[in-house]
Amino acid sequence: MAVVKKVETKERFMGRLGHGCDLLGELNEICREKNVRLGWLKGLGAVRKACLAYYDQYTHEYQPLEIDRPLEITHLVGNVSVKDGNPFVHAHVTLADEKGHAYGGHLAPGTIVFACEFTLEILSGAVLERAFDETTGLSLWKMSE
Ligand code: ZN
Repeated sequence: MAVVKKVETKERFMGRLGHGCDLLGELNEICREKNVRLGWLKGLGAVRKACLAYYDQYTHEYQPLEIDRPLEITHLVGNVSVKDGNPFVHAHVTLADEKGHAYGGHLAPGTIVFACEFTLEILSGAVLERAFDETTGLSLWKMSE
């Protein structure tokens, strides 16, 4: 069964992240400062190095993937919801090397920004709170309500 909620755009921001910051850390910090309870993120730019993760559906564990070289952010997409009472960013990213070969996955701490332009859409009308999901082993949006 799916979870579907009606939402509306409340505010929209555009910005640029600082050179050398942690990509996921900075996005979480911005959402905490603005107390974003529900939102959507998009971005592009470049990173100095990347730390991604791949969720193994059999072991229910994240496998880290570290790529220690400059890459283009060809697509950054994420959502913001509530986990343990706080704003929480869940983001995935596609990155490309000098040959155009792509890497992708779940964005993890340790991805260092070279440059990043982003848009943050703050939504309202629903509350999506994360809770442990037995079937997947992930922290997913609650099915109730
Ligand atoms: Zn993910």
